[in-house]
Amino acid sequence: MKRILTGLQPSGELTLGSLIGGISQTVKLQDEYDSFIFVPDMHAITVRQDPILLKERIRKNVALYLACGVDPKKNTIYIQSENLYHANLSWVLECNTYMGEASRMTQFKEKSKKQDNVTVGLFTYPILMAADILLYDADYVPVGIDQKQHVELARDVAIRFNKLYGEVFKIPEPLIRNVGFKIMDLQNPTNKMSKSSENHKGIIFLLDDEKNIRKKIMSAVTDSEGKVYYDVQNKPGISNLLTIYASLKNISIAKAEEHFKDYNYGNLKKEVADVVTEVLLDIQEKYNKIIDSEEIDEILNRGSEVTSKIAKEKLEEVFKKVGFGRY
Ligand code: ATP
Ligand code: MG
Repeated sequence: MKRILTGLQPSGELTLGSLIGGISQTVKLQDEYDSFIFVPDMHAITVRQDPILLKERIRKNVALYLACGVDPKKNTIYIQSENLYHANLSWVLECNTYMGEASRMTQFKEKSKKQDNVTVGLFTYPILMAADILLYDADYVPVGIDQKQHVELARDVAIRFNKLYGEVFKIPEPLIRNVGFKIMDLQNPTNKMSKSSENHKGIIFLLDDEKNIRKKIMSAVTDSEGKVYYDVQNKPGISNLLTIYASLKNISIAKAEEHFKDYNYGNLKKEVADVVTEVLLDIQEKYNKIIDSEEIDEILNRGSEVTSKIAKEKLEEVFKKVGFGRY
């Protein structure tokens, strides 16, 4: 069975973008693949986090994975920091990654623009991500389009390492949805909806209450043309609403366009809000049942145990290849 691997940072509350671009793909593929899904808490501290909030969000992430339909029997679910092998492999990979290629990463360029004190960790983030993937011989990494470049870096580093030291790593491939690979901010529809953005008006959080969800969608930025059709260049707001609808309904953009062709913007927004509300309220009901359950700890203990074994073996293989210690 081929393996997929997914991670959603506890750097903020999970959003509709996290659901559509990240978790929903994992849920769809969990029957066909050996699926790993983890909480990248070590990635989250590449920007400053409040330790109490971070801890809370780690558990929340796991509960949301489950509430979104991630089946603990079909997935290995774990917390990155509980597995000490990730950072160790990351170091070896850092020593096999060139400054030039790491400097090209657009996420670093964009995130570092928004901060005063940019950390080295934010720069090396993609290399830790490569370690997350390569430790487990993942075949595919379901991601939104913003993470494609990082998976490509992981591939390049793995290919280089294999050439230098002998075959150790499986070469992973990004898996990107046709529709919904980049959900945009409702207030700035040319920017990605990101959980760590400061203005929350344009972000639908998975745990937003119904009133808030509807309010955010009804006040989404559109255009003055008044016709509903898909045109990302000229109508980013309307195109984003069509994308959200099509992704949640699992239909093509063309089908969504056809459905809404005689709608005005107000009615379009109302129907998109209906669908989003229906999906999110269902997730929230499940979330509320799980968040305080012991099941979460049992799942995480199991995940930690399984992944530590696999990761230890892979790391020792790497250490042997590079000539470390007495491996
Ligand atoms: P941050 O702002 O802290 O980077 P984020 O919202 O970008 O948070 P991540 O945890 O970095 O979320 O990403 C988790 C996964 O969700 C990745 O595969 C990413 O590509 C995907 N993803 C995140 N936001 C979106 C979005 N708006 N549309 C589609 N996919 C997304
Ligand atoms: Mg991100």
